[in-house]
Amino acid sequence: MPKHAEYLDDVSQAMSIKYNNLVYEMKAAGEDIIVLSLGEAFFDIPLYPFDELPFPALYHYSHSRGIPGLREKLAAYYRTQYGVPVDPAREIIITAGSKIAIHMAFMAVLNPGDEVLIHEPAWVSYPEQVRLCHGVPVLVPYSASIYELERYVTPRTRAIVLNYPHNPRGRTLPADELCFLHELARRRDLYLISDEAYSDFLLESDDFISCGRFDPDKEHSIVCNSMSKNYGISGWRIGYVITNEALTAQLLKINQHLVTCPATILQLYLERHFDDILAITRPQIRAVVEKRQRVAEYLDSLGLRYLPGSATFYLFVSIEPSRLSSDEFCTTLLREYKVSTVPGVGYGRSCDRFIRVSIGTESMERTLCGIDRIQALIRRTAG
Ligand code: PMP
Repeated sequence: MPKHAEYLDDVSQAMSIKYNNLVYEMKAAGEDIIVLSLGEAFFDIPLYPFDELPFPALYHYSHSRGIPGLREKLAAYYRTQYGVPVDPAREIIITAGSKIAIHMAFMAVLNPGDEVLIHEPAWVSYPEQVRLCHGVPVLVPYSASIYELERYVTPRTRAIVLNYPHNPRGRTLPADELCFLHELARRRDLYLISDEAYSDFLLESDDFISCGRFDPDKEHSIVCNSMSKNYGISGWRIGYVITNEALTAQLLKINQHLVTCPATILQLYLERHFDDILAITRPQIRAVVEKRQRVAEYLDSLGLRYLPGSATFYLFVSIEPSRLSSDEFCTTLLREYKVSTVPGVGYGRSCDRFIRVSIGTESMERTLCGIDRIQALIRRTAG
């Protein structure tokens, strides 16, 4: 058999997807698993009729920037909600999920061997996507502050990845830290690639500051966002990328050669029901973030520790003083305690004493039962 490309040997499976596939198999075998590993929140959303959508256009390819009407809605959303001006004709491309949007951003800015700074815990796909682009991910341990990132910048550094609100910490980025990053990007000629997939998952008291707020011309900012989380439609694979006109033109070439356009029928549906779906998901988003707060209080009451944060539906929970690695811990938790979580090591080497707990899909009762089982395994394996 001819050999596959060598660089793929350095690319690993997404740890979260590996565990979720195991869960699908165990559930199919009839097991009752408490699922705290999924990267989404389940919402009640009605299914609007598809037969009202423009026919037969819904069967065909559409504009490779995305259909104009949906681009306009998304651009208006960024302008009104987050205070970032976006030209829907020139500064946004709708893609098949934000995962490919982030990958396209790396493809558009990296030459082989270029470095990208990624602060741990790092969402599982960033380092592997950088490798897929023949770049070098430079992982910064979670204990470093944003202000220490500059120490990792070299002449080969091209970009810094930001992810706020953060998966899995649940942290938002305060204005002073974001200002510092923009100043660093300007001074060292770097791109900020800002993954804002959880932009609406905040408590009212928190402020979401888009990366674009401090760089309205998007000279060095590439904002990636998604309809997966904020609209509760992860399976539809609709994301988007916002940046300056010149870089958008480069991204467009990549989108044309890899994706053509995201599913036309889904874009038409989302254009038509954009505001209806938001009105329905908004209160449910608020409820899930409040649920996260109650789960955090429960962890406090048990003496379990987690990295500070108040947004999203994730908690990055410490498994100290267990002597198991995070991968061993999650495997045992799933096999023996029937609770699925994601090992911290999937988010970087500095994170092997943590697991990611996602509270978006189970009832409060089952979530707390899962937490009790996590505590039981920590106690049993305390070394
Ligand atoms: N960024 C982060 C931080 C995520 O957690 C995810 C999904 N888990 C994505 C991007 C990708 O989302 P999608 O491709 O569904 O838009």
